[in-house]
Amino acid sequence: MTASTLQPAPMAAPHPLLLSVDLEEWFHARWATGYEKSRWRTPAAFFAEFYRSDGPRGDVVPAVEWLLECFAAEGVQTTFFILGEIAAWYPELVKKVAAAGHEIACHGLLHCDMSGYSRADFRRDLGQAKDRLEQLTGQPVTGFRAPNLVVQPWLADVLRESGFLYDSSVCPARAFRGKYADMSRCPQHPYRIGATVQEPGAGPLWELPLNSMPLLKIPAGTAIATRLFGLTWARFGLWWWRRTGPVHYYLHPYEIWTDRLPDDLRPWPRFMTRRRGPWMQDALRRILAAHRGRVLSCRDWLREAGG
Ligand SMILES: [Zn+2]
Repeated sequence: MTASTLQPAPMAAPHPLLLSVDLEEWFHARWATGYEKSRWRTPAAFFAEFYRSDGPRGDVVPAVEWLLECFAAEGVQTTFFILGEIAAWYPELVKKVAAAGHEIACHGLLHCDMSGYSRADFRRDLGQAKDRLEQLTGQPVTGFRAPNLVVQPWLADVLRESGFLYDSSVCPARAFRGKYADMSRCPQHPYRIGATVQEPGAGPLWELPLNSMPLLKIPAGTAIATRLFGLTWARFGLWWWRRTGPVHYYLHPYEIWTDRLPDDLRPWPRFMTRRRGPWMQDALRRILAAHRGRVLSCRDWLREAGG
């Protein structure tokens, strides 16, 4: 027996955790704006009633700064899917995220369901958002995530036509209130897209899906589900799928912060906003620690995969 046969076989590196942030304000959540049943018709209507002004108040800024410090302390780079509207309101914040080395990706121009868009109008708004982000950061923007994970059958074609390399709007979950339509049977790991983002095919576009709970098909790779159902929910869902491929988790800045919300929240928005702030900060740190050394941005995973 030679010395080399006594060496343990090298362990394959564990599959990575893709980590992403949807950079938007708390009032972009669907209960507040952007959906036919939202409390306010538009952010402008919200500003007038809640802030008594015609613009935002910078609520999102300290939350993003906290995230940048947290990611720097962990030594991880992530993907920020940034709303075009946010880039218009907070150009310096977007530059700061890019300067910290994170990938800048696109979350559309306005935070509203794609079902309300025509293909032509969506393509125009998407191009405007992409251009704004590229001009601010000097980086090519090649990733997209749909607001509220609501997609249209033409999305894949529009992304190809607009120079994107990947989408991350799919969560293989049961359809719920217009979300996750035709997604429950989608793969849990990255795949090349066919005719629609829900359909595996020959590419060249990639889908980097968010994970859902096995069998139950309820979202698991999201801070929203983490806050609603507990940290064990997220950790189990990620652990289960990480045995067979990369997993993907995402969060919003408002989830790790305690912005002042309306005092008269109805039961549903009250439930949807539970455990924001320190509880979720601690949960995020634990998720990062559980995947230490294997947390990647979407861009870096695509490079690793040769995509
Ligand atoms: Zn969003």
